[in-house]
Amino acid sequence: MRLTGVEVRLVVLELAEPLVAAHATVRERPLVLVRVLTDAAEGWGECAALAEPTYTAEYAAGAFAVLVDHLVPRLLAPRPPASVQEALARLEQVVGHPMAKAAIEMALLDAGLRAEGRSLAEHLGAVERRVVAGATIGLGAPAQVLAAADAAVAAGYRRLKCKIAPGREWALLEGVRARHPEVALVADANGSYRLGDPRQRRALERLDRLGLAALEQPLAPDDLLGHAELTASLETPVVLDESVTSLGVLDSAIALRACRGVVVKPARLGGLLAARRVHARCVEAGLALALGGMLESGLGRAATLAVGGLGGFSLGSDLGASDRYFATDLTEAHRLEGGWLEVPAGPGLGVAPVPERLQAAQLRSWSARPAP
Ligand code: MG
Repeated sequence: MRLTGVEVRLVVLELAEPLVAAHATVRERPLVLVRVLTDAAEGWGECAALAEPTYTAEYAAGAFAVLVDHLVPRLLAPRPPASVQEALARLEQVVGHPMAKAAIEMALLDAGLRAEGRSLAEHLGAVERRVVAGATIGLGAPAQVLAAADAAVAAGYRRLKCKIAPGREWALLEGVRARHPEVALVADANGSYRLGDPRQRRALERLDRLGLAALEQPLAPDDLLGHAELTASLETPVVLDESVTSLGVLDSAIALRACRGVVVKPARLGGLLAARRVHARCVEAGLALALGGMLESGLGRAATLAVGGLGGFSLGSDLGASDRYFATDLTEAHRLEGGWLEVPAGPGLGVAPVPERLQAAQLRSWSARPAP
């Protein structure tokens, strides 16, 4: 398979509802897409970077720029790569930008697997055909959060994740826990607490009474020692999300006993193959697993669901059906079936953008070809 061209596109999707988290409020979702053209098939990739650099340092406009100025030129010159491995090795010349790199990897895997007629899930070694869906509920007044939880449970979700922030935890979670004792309830602080603040520390300790399935990323991403202290003192499993950016950090977290679980999020880890390595290391180390989402379109969610097919995600997933995110998704909708989402089984990602939806959402595009 020979790479004949690469396109980078910026699209904007309107969210079904704004999402409020400790780090930002998100109303619309810009997404950078990568389309690779080959002599055998085309492939699509999605960069999960948000509009603003508030979750991690990457953001959509920056990802567009780094793809156009630095990553795609390295991919195409001096000649197109002979394999996905060669492509990834070239991208490693650029420091950081895991989400932008992940978009290229996704597109190359999609194209190659489409050409072979094999699914991404099969390629990764999936053993499950479905993934427990999850509904993420943003910060809000307790009555709003409870109403959102009621609606999600009524829609069939059996795993809820509520965003929390200092001073906004007990009142939000207590009501949800009392009303829905049967759901797996996760609290996600997006790194907003400081263990050195006695009030914040007490607030986290008090959450132990709620029987949460997990407390996600309570402290700053670089505070592995603080997470180790919390892991030792709380009964609630502390799981790491933003902290785990590589296998090296994961090994440090394991050595420090900084968590009892990890959120596997391909975008944050630099791609699907890196996510598979992190999954394997977590299983080996006996860590619990959650499958993370990034407000992705149907394309990105298809890729993450393929990782979900690896199984063992005892802490469930953040992934919901298309109608939870977007007025209109870019792809045919992922639908909820009894609290589960299906792992796509078609060639490559198993989904592709619907051309007229893509056209309606697109703001900018850029393309390049290898030198003749
Ligand atoms: Mg998180």
